[in-house]
Amino acid sequence: MVTKETIKDFARSLGASLAGFAPASRWDEFNEVERSYRPAAIWPQAKSVVVLGVPVLLPVVESTPSINYAELYSTTNILLDQMAYRLALFLTEQGHGSIFLPRDAYGDIGVLVRKPLAAFSHVFAAKYAGLGTIGYSHVLLNAKYGPRVRYVSVFTSLELEPDPLVEEELCTKCRICQKLCPSQAFTTRDDQLIAAMDKKACAEHHARLRQEHRYPCGICIKVCPVGDDRKLYGSNDVRLYFEEKEAIEADPDDPRYARWVHLRRHGSNGERLF
Ligand code: SF4
Ligand code: SF4
Repeated sequence: MVTKETIKDFARSLGASLAGFAPASRWDEFNEVERSYRPAAIWPQAKSVVVLGVPVLLPVVESTPSINYAELYSTTNILLDQMAYRLALFLTEQGHGSIFLPRDAYGDIGVLVRKPLAAFSHVFAAKYAGLGTIGYSHVLLNAKYGPRVRYVSVFTSLELEPDPLVEEELCTKCRICQKLCPSQAFTTRDDQLIAAMDKKACAEHHARLRQEHRYPCGICIKVCPVGDDRKLYGSNDVRLYFEEKEAIEADPDDPRYARWVHLRRHGSNGERLF
């Protein structure tokens, strides 16, 4: 018999750091996601959604925009899709039809500029699977890794016991993500925690970085103070981020930023060190 423990063990053996379970009915219960983007609309046999996550490692994220972060990003993408495919196949072979939804799913950044919306949101899936809460910058905040986790989802016809939702809001509303966003994509809304987002401006910034081989941006996930990983990596001083641009422009060899500048100087077309 396939249980949650069986799935968790299998996911861990594939390399997943996080795994959560959401009933497909939660999308209707919360009524936050447009109907055609819900599991029931995409695959009506779906009873449960298994969400898998892997972290992006803070010291590498801190070097963004760099080829090193670009490579980390594509490594996590490959791993996530492979894990999700293998889990979907495993469940199907055990007699429970399953499919996976790839972690991104757009052909080219130009497509995102024209239509900056994915067919399925793993952020909402991760929230409904009890892995965290959605913060100001539209990312899923997880207690252990803050916003520095990438997710993928597996839809299964198997009914699984749901994980409880995270009740406590993890976003501190500090708005550091807003202040440091290079495309000024976020605007505060009085009636809700999650900001209004100019997704086109964000996608256009990404298109520029892509040409320079140092895509994606990731500043909003770099600077967010939420997450135990900050302690683990000894990176707690967010003032460093506020002073970064000016300091590097004044002196590219400023010792506070030398490690990031070194990585930015290699492997991409960009002449800019920020
Ligand atoms: S990814 Fe970069 S440009 Fe897009 S919202 Fe985050 S900080 Fe802004
Ligand atoms: S940087 Fe601050 S406002 Fe933005 S998501 Fe993180 S905690 Fe929330």
